[in-house]
Amino acid sequence: MPSEFSDSDLFKDDVAQKQRVVSVLLPLGIPGPYDYTVPDTLSVGAGDYVTVPLGPREILGVVWGEGSGEVGHNRLKSIIDKIDAPPMTHALRQFVDWIAVYTLSPPGAVLRLAVRVPGALEPAGVRTVYRLGGPPPARMTPGREKVLELAQDGFARTTREIADEAGVSTAVVRGLIDAGTFEAVELPADAPFDAPDLDRDGADLSDDQQFAADQLTARIEQGGFSAQLLDGVTGSGKTEVYFEAVAATLAKGRQALILLPEIALTGQFLQRFEARFGCRPAEWHSDLSTKERKRVWRAVADGTAKAVVGARSALFLPYPDLGLIVVDEEHESAFKQEDGVSYNARDMSVVRGSLGGFPVVLASATPSLETMANVWSGKYDHLVLPERHGPAVMPAVGAIDMRAHPPEKGEWISPPLLREMAEALAKGEQSMLFLNRRGYAPLTLCRTCGHRIGCPECDSWLVEHRFRKELTCHHCGFSAPVPRACPSCGDEDALIACGPGVERIAEEVVQKFPQARLALLSSDSLRGPAAHAEAIRQITDHEVDVIVGTQIVAKGHNFPLLTVVGVVDADLGLENGDLRAGERTFQLLHQVAGRAGRADRPGRVYLQTYMPEHPVMQALIEGERDRFLEREASMRERTGYPPYGRLVGIVVSGPNPQQVHGVSRELARSHAPQEGISVFGPAPAPLALLRGRHRVRFLVKSTRNVPIQDYVADWLSRVKVPNAVRVSVDVDPYSFL
Ligand code: ADP
Ligand code: ZN
Repeated sequence: MPSEFSDSDLFKDDVAQKQRVVSVLLPLGIPGPYDYTVPDTLSVGAGDYVTVPLGPREILGVVWGEGSGEVGHNRLKSIIDKIDAPPMTHALRQFVDWIAVYTLSPPGAVLRLAVRVPGALEPAGVRTVYRLGGPPPARMTPGREKVLELAQDGFARTTREIADEAGVSTAVVRGLIDAGTFEAVELPADAPFDAPDLDRDGADLSDDQQFAADQLTARIEQGGFSAQLLDGVTGSGKTEVYFEAVAATLAKGRQALILLPEIALTGQFLQRFEARFGCRPAEWHSDLSTKERKRVWRAVADGTAKAVVGARSALFLPYPDLGLIVVDEEHESAFKQEDGVSYNARDMSVVRGSLGGFPVVLASATPSLETMANVWSGKYDHLVLPERHGPAVMPAVGAIDMRAHPPEKGEWISPPLLREMAEALAKGEQSMLFLNRRGYAPLTLCRTCGHRIGCPECDSWLVEHRFRKELTCHHCGFSAPVPRACPSCGDEDALIACGPGVERIAEEVVQKFPQARLALLSSDSLRGPAAHAEAIRQITDHEVDVIVGTQIVAKGHNFPLLTVVGVVDADLGLENGDLRAGERTFQLLHQVAGRAGRADRPGRVYLQTYMPEHPVMQALIEGERDRFLEREASMRERTGYPPYGRLVGIVVSGPNPQQVHGVSRELARSHAPQEGISVFGPAPAPLALLRGRHRVRFLVKSTRNVPIQDYVADWLSRVKVPNAVRVSVDVDPYSFL
C-alpha cells in the first residue's frame, strides 16, 4: 500500500462515493425484498414506509433491513420518499417473514395482508363541524327554530348531522352558517375511539368462572408468551371470562385483539362488549367501508384503538403494543384462509403471541384436535368450564333412526320430529330445523333422460334457488334461470328437484304448520349484518315460531324460548370423507344442539340419521366429547395424519388441461425420496374443474419432525411452470377439494 494513504482515508473515500443501501419489501408476489439506495436527504430505518420506483410505477414498500448487496451499486434505483407514519413494528415484520417461510409464500404476498388498506398511510385530514357561536338570525323560520333548539346542547355536528337530527334540509343549516349563527370547528377526519372503561365491574362470576379468569389474568400479570385453552360448554360464560383477560391487558395499557369467525361478528357480540367496557371496540371485518378501514388501521397504529374485535385479517393490523389475542370458536375452519397466502389465523395467533411475548387464549366448546393435542402434551394450559351458567342445562340429544321413522314420500321431516314441533308450538315455544345446505334442492334431474344440470365452469351440480327462480353454482357463482325443458333431451316439465335445501324444508314447514310464523335464515336470505340482526331480534322477541337455517344459525345466539332443535340430515357432513369430516360434523352439530334450552326451559335435540350407531352420533347422544376426541386422536396417530403428522396440499390448475397435466407429470418425476415423507398424486382433484380451470392435486405427508416446507420448496423449484398454470401450496390444508 502506498505510504501516503492511511486506512481511514481509504474508508472515507469509499463512503463519499457510496450511498447507503437498504432492502425494501414490496407488497407483491415476488421472491424477496429489493435493494434501493437512500437519498442523502432522507433518514430511514427498518420498518419505515417508503415509496420506490418499480419499472414505470411508483409503489409503496417497507424498509426491511440493510441492503443485501446482491445487485451492483450503480444499477440500483433510489427510494423516492419516506411516508410520515409510525414504522411497521419489529414484531409485525418478523411475523410477515415467519408466515412467508411457513406457508411457502413470497414475503411480499404476506406483506400485502398488512398494508392493503388503500390510503391508510395518508394523513387523516380534517372534517368541519359546526356549533352555536354567533347571534341568532334576523329572520326566524320553523326550520331554523328546530335547528337552534337542537344546537342548545352545545355539541358540534356536521351539516348533515344537524339536518338529520333536527329534521330539516341541509339548506336550512347552511343558511344559519351563512348568517353567522354557527361557527365552524375543524376536527380530525377520523372520529377517535373511546377508551374502554376499566372501572366497570364485570359479570358476577361463578366459582368455576372466577378460577378460569384468575388463571388467565395471572398469565397476563406474569407477562411473556403462553397459550391457554378456555374449554367450556356452550353458554358456560367463556365470553365473560375472557373479557376479564381483556380488561387485565387494557389495564396494563396494552392492546387486545379478539378474533371471531366472520359470521359470529354480530351486533349481539358487540353489544356485550359495550355492556362490559362502556364503548364499542374497533371492528375489523369484510363489511367495513374503506373510510372505516382507514380509521381503524390508523387508530390501531397510533395506539388509540385499544381493543379490536375482528375476523382473521385483523391479525395483520399494525399494533404498536399488542398484549393479548383471544381466538373465540378456535375450532372454526373459517379461520383458515384458502386464497392467496393460505394461513390458519388460530395457529398464526399463537405464533404472533410467541413472537410478541404475550398470552394467547383459545376458546371453544368443541376444541380442535390440534389444540387438544397441545393440551395433552402440556404445551397449552387447560381451563375448563363444565357447566352452563345459571339455571340453563345442556339439552338432551337423541337420534331419530330414519330407517324406522321415514318421512312421507317427497318430505324430509320425520313423524317423531313433527310431533315434537307441534308440541312446542302448542306450548308457545320455538323450534329450529337445521340443514347446512342453501337453496331449494342441491340437484336438478331430468326424469326422461337422467340428465343432471351441472355448472359449465365447474365440476359440480347447480343448486336450485326457488325464491330467486335460479340455478346457481355454489363454487363460482354462475347462475341461470331454471329452464322449462331439459337442456339435454328437450322434454318439457320433466325436470325434478332432488334432495332438500333449507328453502325446501321451509316449504314443508309452511305446509305442515300453516299457522306457525316462520323465519328462514341462510346467507341468501340474510344479506348484510343489518338483516341478520333484525332476524335475531324477531326470534328473540318471539315474533317467530319455527326457524329453518343453515350454519348461520349455529353460532352463539341465545334464544330463550327455543326448546326443540331438529337436525334434518345429521349424516350430511360425513359424506365427504375428508380427514376432519367426523370432527367437523361433531363440532357443528354440537354447536347447533347448544342453541336449545338456554334459559330455564330444558331443550331437546333430534338428530335425523341413517347411522344412529356412528361414533359421531353416539358421542353427541352420550355427551362423550372427550372419548370421541381420544378416539379420533388415536386414529390419526395410527395413520400419521395431523396433528400427529403434517400435510401440504398442492393444486396444479390452469385453463388448458394438457398444460396442467404436463406440469403434473413433471412434478411427479421430480420429487426425490426422503425418509419420513410420502408424496401422493397426481390425482384429479375432487373438483376437477373450478371456475373454468382444470385441477390436479398432490398431497405431501410427513412425520412431525421433518422440515416439510424445505422439502416442498426444493421440489417445486425444480419444475418450470408456464405462466397460465398455477401451482398453489396449502400448508396444513383444511380443504381437500
Ligand atoms: P359461552 O361464550 O361459553 O357460550 P357466554 O359467555 O355467551 O357463554 O354466556 C352465556 C350467557 O350466560 C350469556 O348471556 C351471558 O351473559 C350469561 N352469563 C354467563 N356467565 C354469567 C355470569 N357470571 N353472570 C351473569 N350472566 C352470565
Ligand atoms: Zn361453477
